[in-house]
Amino acid sequence: MRLLSLITFLAMHLPLIGESLSVILRTRNRLNGTVIEQNTQWDTKKTALIICDMWDDHWCKSAARRVTELAGPMNEMIRKARSKGIFIIHAPSSVTDFYKSYPQRQLAQSAPFAKTPVALTSAPRWGTAWCWTDPKHERVLPVDDSDMGCSCVGKKCEIIPPWKRQHALIELHEGDALTDDGQETWNLLTARQIDTVLLCGVHLNMCVLGRPFAIRQQVYLGKKVSFIRDMTDSMYNPERPPGVDHFTGHDLIIAHVEQHWCPSITSDVITGTKPFHFQEDTRLSK
Ligand SMILES: [Zn+2]
Repeated sequence: MRLLSLITFLAMHLPLIGESLSVILRTRNRLNGTVIEQNTQWDTKKTALIICDMWDDHWCKSAARRVTELAGPMNEMIRKARSKGIFIIHAPSSVTDFYKSYPQRQLAQSAPFAKTPVALTSAPRWGTAWCWTDPKHERVLPVDDSDMGCSCVGKKCEIIPPWKRQHALIELHEGDALTDDGQETWNLLTARQIDTVLLCGVHLNMCVLGRPFAIRQQVYLGKKVSFIRDMTDSMYNPERPPGVDHFTGHDLIIAHVEQHWCPSITSDVITGTKPFHFQEDTRLSK
């Protein structure tokens, strides 16, 4: 009888206790940008991983090629994260209707309403709410992305969004959620008492910062926010200032986010293998 009580107790409480994940957070001094590394532990059951805008296609052919290269390794990382108890939120903006009959979409829509501690952004951009660059928090971005950042050599791509769904290499599993909405994201996090929010996906200088589920909004809401820097990309055209190659431009944006918004980690913390590296990035050291 006592054994039965113990088994019942464990069955009730074990799912609430996650693994402890050791991470090295990389942040930067706000004034001079010097790297600061800090070791910490996360309870995986109080951690969510949000996958931002990993669409099936992109108006920029180079961006689409890099997303396809990233999608497989990212799916492997997501698998590992899920198996450790991290809650997975797929956030393919503006294509959630594709998933309206999926249980992952319904899970997000059915999460009980929870009031946010500060008002969610309502500023519009590209058909959704948007957290714009915030001069109280950050300097101007270190790259000029005002042309939207097509990195193709020669003829530049036309800006006609072709995306219809999330990239098919990223699997949806039972227990995952799918939303591009700030309130639904907050409802899901609240219901699970999640205090740590991890972001990955594209593009760091645009959607991974600005979307209503993404970095700026989560910082305003008081979450412990980090991003997985090797599982991101940026929109940057090397013909624009500061005139560096695409990947150096992306690294400058990574440093900007670390300096002004939140720390970053690398995916090997979750996978136990090596960080991801784009094939086209031929620089010897990063
Ligand atoms: Zn392009």
